[in-house]
Amino acid sequence: MILSASNIKKSFKSGKSETLVLNNINFNVEEGQMVAIMGVSGSGKSTLLHILGLLDEPDSGDVYFSGEKINFTDKKNLALLRNANIGFVFQFYSLINELSVLENVLLPTMINGIIKIDYAKELLLRVGINQEFFNKRSYNLSGGEKQRVAIARALINNPKVIITDEPTSNIDENNAKLLMSLLRDLQQSFNTTVVISTHSNKIARFCDTTYFLSEGVLTNEDNS
Ligand code: ADP
Ligand code: MG
Repeated sequence: MILSASNIKKSFKSGKSETLVLNNINFNVEEGQMVAIMGVSGSGKSTLLHILGLLDEPDSGDVYFSGEKINFTDKKNLALLRNANIGFVFQFYSLINELSVLENVLLPTMINGIIKIDYAKELLLRVGINQEFFNKRSYNLSGGEKQRVAIARALINNPKVIITDEPTSNIDENNAKLLMSLLRDLQQSFNTTVVISTHSNKIARFCDTTYFLSEGVLTNEDNS
């Protein structure tokens, strides 16, 4: 298993009330698999992805990366582990508008100081972004294009896992299909593990396994 979680609990306090969002979640993904986490809005998909992506800490339970138990208190090691192994694609692209397309893709390399311009260009072409866009500011792109740039950015450090939170919810159906084919293509070429959250059945069907998150409980189904 490349990424697993056992008995994850997470709740949020607001005022006097406390909402239990994840109630004893168990999750496993094998290297090179593509899995979907389905659930309605507010079911806790983002909360779970943030924990699986080592961006947030569970209240209790453990996360394992390549069999290694994650120590959430060691923030420095956590950041290193994340930067070296996990690529994120968020729902709202989270590109920096003022930077060029190429600079956005290079951002994660600034942390370790290995600036891979040629590789960034190669990835952009791979995700279907032509050279004429490389030096344009990212706000000039369409939603679908921004999401593809975000994928190129997520790939720049050759992560073992790509975690993507509702990547298709702000793009049209045609672009959503293209994006899913692209993720599948990348998964097949690089053996990248892909974890996708979605509220769409159609999107989930592109994946090998679908998990369902409802009322804090996660169940799964093999799609083969
Ligand atoms: P989804 O991504 O499936 O829409 P979320 O994980 O964003 O669901 O949210 C699940 C629940 O947790 C919601 O009720 C949301 O309001 C709550 N929640 C998420 N993040 C926070 C937070 N940082 N503080 C307080 N409540 C939160
Ligand atoms: Mg969400």
